[in-house]
Amino acid sequence: MTGIPADRLRGSDAGDAGASETAADFASVPDAFQRLWTPHRMVYIQDGQQPHPDDCPFCIAPSLDDEKALIVARGTHAYVLLNLFPYNSGHVLVCPYRHVATYDQATPEEIAEIGELTQIAMRVLTNVSNCDGFNIGMNQGRIAGAGIAEHLHQHIVPRWALDSNFFPIIAGTKAIPRLLGDVRRDIAEGWPGATTAAAAPR
Ligand SMILES: [Zn+2]
Repeated sequence: MTGIPADRLRGSDAGDAGASETAADFASVPDAFQRLWTPHRMVYIQDGQQPHPDDCPFCIAPSLDDEKALIVARGTHAYVLLNLFPYNSGHVLVCPYRHVATYDQATPEEIAEIGELTQIAMRVLTNVSNCDGFNIGMNQGRIAGAGIAEHLHQHIVPRWALDSNFFPIIAGTKAIPRLLGDVRRDIAEGWPGATTAAAAPR
């Protein structure tokens, strides 16, 4: 039960549309927030932009060669490339080839291969970089932090003990110790089935 006094659960007849309401006015678990109802703003949400795939870097990348596009592996329904703006060395993205924005729009085949490529990427990154852990996830929508919200992509960010420092906090700067081209080559060469020589151990 909600614990809200019975006299607060009666239907509202205040007629004060636009005013904020306290949480205790709702037949639910109250919290400390007030709500300002703004249905007129739905127009901004519903008019979400879906740029043409010709302008989408994740649609263009597969048409380029692997080195230029920073692609480390290609599957049937999805592929893996380095993030051009890495949080850490070896930060890769798994994308479906199709231009779909959100996970619920992906087909079962795409979901299965995104999962499989994610597992392989974890193993390869562990082998070639001796990382200690990962952050894996998807930002769905620009408001949730997606840089390219129109084309689904899963982040795989390798983590090392002590890889955090104060740079991102004090200067908005992240220290990336290795160049993207070198990292791409190591991961691509360490990928199962790679035709090139295995990465040299470090
Ligand atoms: Zn796209």
